[in-house]
Amino acid sequence: MFDLNNLLRENIRNLVPYSSARDEFKGQASVFLDANENSFGSPLDAQYNRYPDPMQQKLKEKISRIKGVPPQHIFIGNGSDEAIDILFRAFCNPGKDNVILLPPTYGMYEVSAHINDVAVRKIPLLENFQMDIDSISEAIDENTKLIFICSPNNPTGNSMEREDIEIVLNNFDGIVVVDEAYINFAKQKTMISELTEYPNLVILQTLSKAWGLAGLRVGMAFASEEVTGVFNKIKPPYNVNAVSQQLALDALENVGQVNGWIRRTVEERERMVKALAALSFVKKIFPSDANFLLVRVDDAPGLYRYLVEQGIVVRDRSNVILCEGCLRITVGTEAENTVLMEALMKK
Ligand SMILES: *Cc1c(COP(=O)(O)O)cnc(C)c1O
Repeated sequence: MFDLNNLLRENIRNLVPYSSARDEFKGQASVFLDANENSFGSPLDAQYNRYPDPMQQKLKEKISRIKGVPPQHIFIGNGSDEAIDILFRAFCNPGKDNVILLPPTYGMYEVSAHINDVAVRKIPLLENFQMDIDSISEAIDENTKLIFICSPNNPTGNSMEREDIEIVLNNFDGIVVVDEAYINFAKQKTMISELTEYPNLVILQTLSKAWGLAGLRVGMAFASEEVTGVFNKIKPPYNVNAVSQQLALDALENVGQVNGWIRRTVEERERMVKALAALSFVKKIFPSDANFLLVRVDDAPGLYRYLVEQGIVVRDRSNVILCEGCLRITVGTEAENTVLMEALMKK
C-alpha cells in the first residue's frame, strides 16, 4: 500500500517550512513594509523590487486550464531539474535508500542521486528500448523510494508501453516518476489523466522543449495534492523568479504558435528519417516520438567531429549503453535540417 507519510524522510515529515512575508499576508494593502524590499523601485525601466508570488498562482491557473489539472495538483519549479532534486530530498535517506533508473536515459536522475548520496539501481532497457518489467520488480526492496521512467525517453526517442508503466504503478509502493519532457511530440498521450487513479504517480513536464522557453527555467510536476504539498514544503520560497513567471504567463497565450512548431517539427523529423536512410554510413534510425533522432552510423565520433568542422553540433551518444555508434540529432528548423543534410551528403 502506498503511504505517503511512511515514505517521506522523517526530517521532511517533521519539517516546519519557511514562512515568507508573502505567505503570511496575502490581502490587499497600499503600503508594504513587511519584506525589507526597496520601496523606491528598481534601477530599471521595469520594476522588480517586490518579491514574486511564492506559489505562482496565476501561472498555475493558466497551466491548469491548458492541461486540465486543478492548480493544487501542480508544482512549478526552476526547471524540471528542481522537481527531480526535491523528489530525492523528500523521499531518499542519504546513504540508505535507493532509486531505480532505466538506462539509457536522462542524465540528471543519476547526478541528482549522487548529489544526494542515494544509491542507483540500473535496470537497462531491453533491446527494443522498452522496460524490463521482471528485472525492475526483482530490483525493488524496502529501501527503493523512486523509479524514474522517461517517456518519450531521452536519448532513445521512443515512448514506453503504457501497460508497462501501469504495471509499475500498480506494483510499487514508492513514487513512480514519469518524465514527459517530450510529450508534445509524441503519439502517446500524457499520463495526466491517470493522476486520480495513482497516488504514487508524479508526472514531469517542462516549458524548455516544445514551448521554446529553455532560458526561463520553468518546469512542472503534476501529482496528488498531498505530494505537491511536499514539494511546496521543501522548495525555496521564491523558486521561480518574477520575470520567468510573467514571461511564461505571456507565452502560454500563444498555444497556436507552439502547436504550429510542433507540427512542423514532426514533419521535419519524418523528412530527416527519409533523407538519413539514404546515406550509406547510416546503419539504423530509431523510431522517435520526440524532437530528436537517435541514429546509428559507421563511425559516430568521426562523424561528430566532421560535423563540428562544418559548424554543426549534434550529440555523440556512442559511449552510452545500448547507444553504441549513435548520434542524437535534434530536429531543427527546415533550414537547419537542410544544412545538416547537405553536410552529410558531402561526407
Ligand atoms: C530536457 C529535459 C528535461 C528538461 O529539464 P528542464 O530543467 O525543465 O529544462 C527534463 N527531462 C528530460 C528527459 C529532458 O530531456
